[in-house]
Amino acid sequence: MQRFTWQRAVVKVGSSLVAPTGSKCTGQFILPLVRFISESRALGKEVIIVSSGSVAAGREAVPVTHVPSIAEKQAMAAIGQMQMMANWARFFDVPCAQILLTADDFANRTRYVNIQNTLRELFKHGAMPIVNENDTVATAELKVGDNDNLGAYTALVAQADTLIMCSDIDGLYTADPRKTVDAKLIPRVEEIDESIHALAGGAGSTVGTGGMRTKIQAAEKCANSGIQTLIVNGRKSDVFDSLLSGVCPGTVFVASRSPDSARAKWLRYSLRSRGQLTIDSGAAHALRNRGSSLLCAGIEKVSGHFDAGDCVEFVFRDEVLGQGLCLYNSQDLQRVKGLHSQQISDVLGYSHGKVAVHKDDLIIMGKNTTTIQPIKEEE
Ligand code: GLU
Repeated sequence: MQRFTWQRAVVKVGSSLVAPTGSKCTGQFILPLVRFISESRALGKEVIIVSSGSVAAGREAVPVTHVPSIAEKQAMAAIGQMQMMANWARFFDVPCAQILLTADDFANRTRYVNIQNTLRELFKHGAMPIVNENDTVATAELKVGDNDNLGAYTALVAQADTLIMCSDIDGLYTADPRKTVDAKLIPRVEEIDESIHALAGGAGSTVGTGGMRTKIQAAEKCANSGIQTLIVNGRKSDVFDSLLSGVCPGTVFVASRSPDSARAKWLRYSLRSRGQLTIDSGAAHALRNRGSSLLCAGIEKVSGHFDAGDCVEFVFRDEVLGQGLCLYNSQDLQRVKGLHSQQISDVLGYSHGKVAVHKDDLIIMGKNTTTIQPIKEEE
């Protein structure tokens, strides 16, 4: 078992704990968890809950015999969210605060800062922040999509040092413990490499081992931002006794780097890119090794449609090197790519100087962090 220390944690609680029968919220697995959170808070620690369960909780109120449509699921979530919050409020002596977020809220810098301000104020007033995806407004392309990754984004925005994922499995195993008798629990993961992704069914696979794929994605986002991640079995009450004494009975993914600045975290994980800039080897070298800005002269190809200020990825030899906020829109950049600064104002009638993406507005991906999907060329 691994010892760990923490001060501010996001505790992600899955539907199997909140609504274990799949139809309504119960206190069965919530009580030991609430005791853990309450006792930790009494020690001066700060906790944010990311809770699933709204769709499961609303299922009885929207009975269907077929696979529910998106609208039916959204109706379930709208009804179930009230029940899920009421269930948490039953057990806490402090006010519970509902925060419903979508991927867009993390991508927009103003909203991102607003989330931080709200959380700060909630902590100041001793409230219990409880986050879920805003399922009723989010369609697939706007969604984070799963609460493991939502937990990671929340840990990033909250500047937490720890993400604790409470699931119905003891941690990460060497094989699926439901199928392999000699599967062994892995107590500590130093680096999330391909072998770790393979344990969850492979990085590109859509079928995870007990939902492990999204958990590892979440742990990877956190590790690369200086946040440790724990996977524990939230169905076992003694797990919370261990956590209270600073011991993790599940798996600890250690933080692989010192924490990023708040702005670098936002640039790294919360933005969705709107285009791609294929860059030459000189630009790739300058970005990677010298911490330089990206100059128009180093851009070979511009793909996608984006406005000035949108996020774009930098691609070199089919690999995404990083991303940042582009000073020019895609149409203008098409016209000045490859040009030197003196030529830019002649062509466009204005110039932001030779820089297309300023070094303060970009991040370079670490190893294994190229999770961004390439944008398809427009017809
Ligand atoms: N937001 C969903 C719900 O509340 C849960 C998604 C998930 O658990 O990954 O039902």
